[in-house]
Amino acid sequence: MNREGGKEKLNMKFKAYFSKYKQHVMLGALMTLVTTIAISCASSGFNLFSKSDDVQLGQQMAQQIAADPAHYPILNNPTLTAYLQSIEDRIVSSPNVQNKDFHYRVQIINDPKTINAFTIPAGGIYVYTGLLNFINDESALAGVLAHETTHADHRHATRNLTQAYGLQMITALALGNNPGLIAQIVGALGSQLTVLKFSRDDEREADQGSFDDLNQLPGRPWWPGGVNLFLQKSLAAQPNQPGAFQQLFLTHPVDQQRIDAINSDIKSSGIGNPTAAQLNVGNYARYKSMLTGSAATAPYGH
Ligand SMILES: [Zn+2]
Repeated sequence: MNREGGKEKLNMKFKAYFSKYKQHVMLGALMTLVTTIAISCASSGFNLFSKSDDVQLGQQMAQQIAADPAHYPILNNPTLTAYLQSIEDRIVSSPNVQNKDFHYRVQIINDPKTINAFTIPAGGIYVYTGLLNFINDESALAGVLAHETTHADHRHATRNLTQAYGLQMITALALGNNPGLIAQIVGALGSQLTVLKFSRDDEREADQGSFDDLNQLPGRPWWPGGVNLFLQKSLAAQPNQPGAFQQLFLTHPVDQQRIDAINSDIKSSGIGNPTAAQLNVGNYARYKSMLTGSAATAPYGH
């Protein structure tokens, strides 16, 4: 089901719900309240969902992904997966990560034709083998993982749902007769991975979070501008292999402004250029070579 279809279905549900209570409500007063709240909903950061809603939504999506190996073939390589997870665990230990109780679990999708990564609510992170083949160093990988971590940590999916459905949710809650409404919305949307489409603002925030997560890690094991190593390479390569980047550009709009924003952070923080230890090219190549010889080898030539 696409996003619009889902919205329509939910709207019908709300319409049916409202028709029952309409006659008992002082509509004028309610509309004033709703208008006020709608303005709040439109501002960024406002989230009507609870953290446990994020967890529930994430679990539903994880189940859907696990049940669909045709679209999401999970790579069975415990060593490579553990390597990514060890980087992720260290990122999550950054003082900049707020929701440390989410379950940040990295899985690899064996699809060498796709250069992308995505996050589901509450911390499930999926990295395509196409992306692992495309990058050349550990700071780029850490930058991507920290970017995805921020989408979950800042709860972008439920924040976006608040913007889409907040008005109806608040109105229904104001009527006080449907405590299960949020659960209904979570239930209805849990099967729609389209809620993972992020706006340019979300992307900028996730880039910023990536920089801050890595910059605040004691000893800075990875270059804080790591996400830019990936973005710059992607922007340069995209015209030559648009198919490989289709999902990335659809779910994470990439543009020069994003790159410039992080470049200005790099400059103002005075961190300088990445060190050889931060790039850890040799170590990354050793793990990346585990993809060689399998179906995950791609002729990208990078
Ligand atoms: Zn993103």
